[in-house]
Amino acid sequence: GMPAPPPPVLSPRRKTRQIKVGKVGVGSDHQVSVQSMTTTKTTDINGTLQQIAELTAAGCDIVRVACPATEDAEALPAIAQKSQIPVIADIHFQPKYVYKAIEAGCAAVRVNPGNIRKFDDQVKQISKEAADAGVSIRIGVNAGSLDKRLMEKYGKATPEALVESAVWEASLFEEHGFNDFKISVKHNDPVIMVRAYELLAERGDWPLHLGVTEAGPAFQGTIKSATAFGTLLSQGIGDTIRVSLSAPPVEEIKVGNQILESLNLRPRKLEIVSCPSCGRAQVDVYSLADKVTAGLEGLEVPLRVAVMGCVVNGPGEAREADLGVASGNGKGQIFVKGEVIKTVPESAIVETLIEEAMRIADESGLA
Ligand code: SF4
Repeated sequence: GMPAPPPPVLSPRRKTRQIKVGKVGVGSDHQVSVQSMTTTKTTDINGTLQQIAELTAAGCDIVRVACPATEDAEALPAIAQKSQIPVIADIHFQPKYVYKAIEAGCAAVRVNPGNIRKFDDQVKQISKEAADAGVSIRIGVNAGSLDKRLMEKYGKATPEALVESAVWEASLFEEHGFNDFKISVKHNDPVIMVRAYELLAERGDWPLHLGVTEAGPAFQGTIKSATAFGTLLSQGIGDTIRVSLSAPPVEEIKVGNQILESLNLRPRKLEIVSCPSCGRAQVDVYSLADKVTAGLEGLEVPLRVAVMGCVVNGPGEAREADLGVASGNGKGQIFVKGEVIKTVPESAIVETLIEEAMRIADESGLA
């Protein structure tokens, strides 16, 4: 039969130039990628590679490692070589680490314009060495380390100040014929951040890396990032994303992927459609939804599972899903593709849903 049409998106992607971060293309011709940053000491090569492996398994496309000192730079070759996903060296101040990262086989280097001023005169050489090695660059403007001159001009890190910094820095690389870079203009306030990216998107065709800096602990950071990224991605702005959480980096990847799935920018995988519960509920919906979610964690097939607390909206939603339960009277009606396949006692709902999900996944041939 005909392949299913792609699911709708809110807006076409903004056209950008294309760059490569190792094997991952970044730009409007490629799907929006998800990145995170390791929290291990970069000098701890095994620990860092272990964390990169966990991130890769969680669906991370690109990983960044901090490179604050010589010992970190010395660990880069082993990390870049053994990582399954492209490695970006995060460098704030020192050009010598930029050269070391390029030599180490890193896919890309992140530089911070607030500090690059100190090595303005080296942009030419950085451009040449990066171009020769096929290494791309991220110009990472950050509200917390904005150039002094711009802080004096604007008084604080306004969207205009962030964008002026980015555009100036981009021009330094472009003057030397180097175009393989993406830009970020991060701020901890989603409103300022969104405005900065909107302004930046009007100024050039650079691929953009989205991020809300210091977004906070998991709950707040997730909301801030989802709100800000959602606003931008819904306009087609953003080519790679990094959710920053004061939580393990694997959580950042889960949140990032969930944001993209929610906007149909990635195929949806497991989706639990559970009701909020209300006075009509005849079952503990929270615990039921939690148990089903936990039981199906890691399932890599597209599957909508409806968990409904009563028979009012229950059967309707359960029917729309691939699989579902509508509870009532101490029992659960189990639906598969709209048909009630069985009714089980409440105590057997979770295991039955998990069993059925596994069966559907097996039959789909994707599991
Ligand atoms: Fe309430 Fe039933 Fe709707 Fe759940 S499905 S919110 S229990 S009416």
